Amino acid sequence: MPLLVLGQGRDLATERGVECPGELPAPSNPGLVERARAAKAALGNTVFILGHHYQRDEVIEFADVMGDSFKLAKEAAARPDAPYIVFCGVHFMAESADILTAKHQRVVLPDLAAGCSMADMAAIGQVEDAWDDLAEMGVTSDLIPVTYMNSSAAIKAFTGRHGGTVCTSSNARTAMMWAFDQRGGAEGWGKVLFLPDQHLGRNTAVRELGLSLEDCVVFDPHKPAGGLTREEVSAARVILWRGHCSVHGRFSLEAVEAARASIPGVMVIVHPECQHEVVQAADAVGSTEKIIATIAAAPDGTSWAVGTELNLVRRLATMFPKQHIAFLEKSVCYCSTMNRIDLPHLVWALESLVAGRVVNQISVDPDVAKWARVALDQMLALPGETSKD
Ligand code: SF4
Repeated sequence: MPLLVLGQGRDLATERGVECPGELPAPSNPGLVERARAAKAALGNTVFILGHHYQRDEVIEFADVMGDSFKLAKEAAARPDAPYIVFCGVHFMAESADILTAKHQRVVLPDLAAGCSMADMAAIGQVEDAWDDLAEMGVTSDLIPVTYMNSSAAIKAFTGRHGGTVCTSSNARTAMMWAFDQRGGAEGWGKVLFLPDQHLGRNTAVRELGLSLEDCVVFDPHKPAGGLTREEVSAARVILWRGHCSVHGRFSLEAVEAARASIPGVMVIVHPECQHEVVQAADAVGSTEKIIATIAAAPDGTSWAVGTELNLVRRLATMFPKQHIAFLEKSVCYCSTMNRIDLPHLVWALESLVAGRVVNQISVDPDVAKWARVALDQMLALPGETSKD
């Protein structure tokens, strides 16, 4: 697949690099904040603006609610009086909101180039081919797919069709336990196909469920039969898809060691999308909601090195000035696709709605939505809480 410059060109097989049509105001326009305020006021209760934790402050200022992707989709579903949902996040989140909201609600993604590189690493054709390979190796009768919320609607639908569940970074343990229980329990013979984030899958299996690293194999969609032998697949308990988050995957063990060496008494807290060695070296691991709650509950004067997206870490430092909050890596780790949503795109989306035009509507195919809903409903039926990302 050729690489596309963000915001230019069109490739329907990827969430990234698709064009965003429309006449956008210039980023230097000094009236953008006033225009956003005016458009939002004109729309009143007809619009509900959702802001993911990783969004820029200039966008978060206009959000009616801030949260992780699953919380935001549920918030949208709880507001059926709002015909327009403006989702300041990325494409798979807007898809989930479209699936979970009522038919009359229309979900808008201010920039269509706001995709997710992790979600792109599991294309539906690749996953269907992988399932065929695994069927040839004779393991699919014991195999339950579990897909992370950070996947396309098509992958969620695949999961629903094959009797699996969606999970979040908060409930991945419960989801994996449930999946094993469908085929003989954690001590039994069942297997999990975990999509698309190998790190969350590995961290869950090894840290949370006590399986060994040898119980996990990685299916590489770019290699014949995933690069695995029949024996390897038969012996494995968890088949991890070869995907990762391009933001959280950058945090390194060296950065954890450097933080410990340079900040006395520092606590390292990271997201479970980080590499296994980083998660093992950290003091605490959790979803964005858990990271926020942990720092909020800590005594004043505590020092934290935080391994998650930079917009959120900077906001945490502002929210909790009595804590010492440092970013774990030396290099900048913004989610570049999240950052596609900026004030010019938000103004354009809102002013278009004021003018009666729905731009960049995210609309999931009804059959895909039906099966994705099956996997999402299965997640909602899991015991315990369901916050994520
Ligand atoms: S932070 Fe990672 S998983 Fe989240 S949207 Fe960005 S690339 Fe995707």
